[in-house]
Amino acid sequence: MKINILTIFPEMFSPLRESMTGRAIDKGIIELNVVDIRDYTTDKHNRVDDTPYGGGAGMVMQAQPIMEAYRQSGFGGDVIYMSPRGEMLSRELACELSEADEITILCGHYEGVDQRALDMLGAREVSIGDYVLTGGELPAMVLVDAVSRLIPGVLSGEESALDESIYSGLLEYPHYSRPAEYEGAPVPEVLLSGDHGEVDIWRWEQSLALTKERRPDLFKKYVDSDPPLTKRQKKILEKYL
Ligand code: SAM
Repeated sequence: MKINILTIFPEMFSPLRESMTGRAIDKGIIELNVVDIRDYTTDKHNRVDDTPYGGGAGMVMQAQPIMEAYRQSGFGGDVIYMSPRGEMLSRELACELSEADEITILCGHYEGVDQRALDMLGAREVSIGDYVLTGGELPAMVLVDAVSRLIPGVLSGEESALDESIYSGLLEYPHYSRPAEYEGAPVPEVLLSGDHGEVDIWRWEQSLALTKERRPDLFKKYVDSDPPLTKRQKKILEKYL
């Protein structure tokens, strides 16, 4: 998958070259192209922003350097503009984007981007939450990370992405690792039993309880979806209804 970024802070994207996304880039599963919008400005002082028509506080990123950066880089795919007024990033959206061959992400700054550039690019606006950040670079990295881990071959076990919180429909159960007792706190007995069936049931019930407590909205969605459950699971579920 080709992931293109249009930004005025290209250095900010170095974290994507680490860890899981870094390995995906090294393996050639993801091609990450980061372009500096400033390289395409025709302003003699290298500026990419100007005051807003109609007055008001702050500056606006101008259309010219953005459009020139986009056209001259030969970027394609859907254009996504990271924006607090956009549709909320969700598992559905991450899954949808992970199926694309190419996407181009525009990172805003200041008060935002000249609307004409957004219209010409046919940009889809995506928000990472109901709060306002200084720029679109961190939101773009959140999007790239969420999308990348859904691309086959990026995670070592392909099933693990769907096993995670939210993707399975429930929040994830608690994890434990060695030692079996740490400062007097033991690992739940069942996890040491070697009985995989019991472990699965225990984990599922933990997920159920956590989801009901922390995300009643998700819990309701899960129950309403009529998930395929065994007799025993149905009996356990009744306790939580
Ligand atoms: N004036 C804009 C508004 O009220 O919608 C906010 C501009 S913000 C200071 C600067 C840039 O940060 C935005 O253009 C956008 O690219 C990015 N940004 C800020 N918060 C974001 C969020 N929650 N999700 C996605 N991008 C965000």
